[in-house]
Amino acid sequence: MALHSRSKRQYFLAGDTIFRQGDPGDYAYLIEEGTAQIIRTHPDGREQVLAHRSAGGIVGEMALLSSQPRTAHVRAITPCTVISIPRDDFQTRLDRADPMIKMVMQVMLARYNILVSGESTDQNAPMPDYAEAALIHHKAFDTIRITHDLKEAILNQDLRLFYQPIISLTTGKPVGFEALMRWQHPTRGLLNPVSFIPIAEDSGLIVHASRWALTESAAMLARLSDHHGLTDPWFLSLNYTGLDLSNPSFSEDVKNTLSDAQIAPERIKLEITERMLIDDPEGAIQSLERCKQTGLTVALDDFGTGYSSLSYLHRFPIDTMKIDRSFVNGMMKQDASMTLIKAIIALARGLDMDIVAEGVESGDEAAALRALGCDMAQGYHYARPMSEDDLILWLKQL
Ligand code: C2E
Ligand code: CA
Ligand code: CA
Repeated sequence: MALHSRSKRQYFLAGDTIFRQGDPGDYAYLIEEGTAQIIRTHPDGREQVLAHRSAGGIVGEMALLSSQPRTAHVRAITPCTVISIPRDDFQTRLDRADPMIKMVMQVMLARYNILVSGESTDQNAPMPDYAEAALIHHKAFDTIRITHDLKEAILNQDLRLFYQPIISLTTGKPVGFEALMRWQHPTRGLLNPVSFIPIAEDSGLIVHASRWALTESAAMLARLSDHHGLTDPWFLSLNYTGLDLSNPSFSEDVKNTLSDAQIAPERIKLEITERMLIDDPEGAIQSLERCKQTGLTVALDDFGTGYSSLSYLHRFPIDTMKIDRSFVNGMMKQDASMTLIKAIIALARGLDMDIVAEGVESGDEAAALRALGCDMAQGYHYARPMSEDDLILWLKQL
């Protein structure tokens, strides 16, 4: 859209505040791209999500009528491009408009003003949009707050990585670690990834978190050898989402980070899920091929859960198959789980992949997996995910 006079195009990141309740209202904002949420703080401090506005929608439109303070906060929940329209600019344009349009516009705005400010005395008047939207569940608000806090957490370095050893079933020794993210929340303590990774994905923040995780875990590998004399060439597995891989410079970025840290790309395994392969098979193949060319290896995580990509699994350059822990859990009790594990191992072998069993919690499971020809295992039977300090102690006592 071409902009005239004093209207300006502005950009907001997910979690950014576009304006605050109580601020003077001098601008309306037309959303060109992205989604924003309207939130009201009540006198008792309670916050309430009133509505969403996305591309083509408008927020803060009351400012076109009066300079009264804003009655709600507006925050971007995805990156937003907005056009700010100053009231005086709008008035000038309205004054210049065709008299009929001007009159209709003024009547509409005045009516709208009464509706949204709740001053209508007409009991049969339609429910204002805001009040209707106020019925939206608080969960939506939680998401916004977590998104906002998460952005801070990335900036303030409140994210942590825990490392869980992956053991060779042949030698019984660790061959690698999986990096698992935690969030050291200022008030809520150490949070597990299930409570924030999906929100990080939805808001796009995952890309920043993933970059941080790679830099941090590469530095950790360097510290193991440089500061602690732990020089085995263990591999490091990191979890990635479709959003990470869809960035055209993903493999190049990873390569540069590893080269800065002097870590060979062969030591890094990208864990991806079947879902990514199904969402965008062609994109995934291209991206993974580029990663393979730089020397990285690829593991298919949670294999066997939910989505089935069996028919085209052979098209993806995958080195390692990770059997989901739900099958491992049941293998000693249910014939069906055992049968599935045997089938997955045969499939992986046929496709020339090596195999990690996840969620191994007992010696019996480990022995059975070993007998079935599974290469590696990961689970509480060997070690829980742990901080870098604990990992160093664990490695030193082996
Ligand atoms: P995942 O990739 O399948 O990771 C394995 C999960 O199983 C971890 O949970 C781990 O703590 C848990 N686990 C390991 N051994 C056992 C066991 O013997 N028994 C049981 N019951 N659980 C076991 P965690 O750390 O809570 O992570 C949950 C999920 O969050 C991960 O599942 C992964 O999908 C996601 N995630 C974690 N870190 C990251 C990250 O840095 N980026 C992304 N995109 N996702 C991450
Ligand atoms: Ca994983
Ligand atoms: Ca997994």
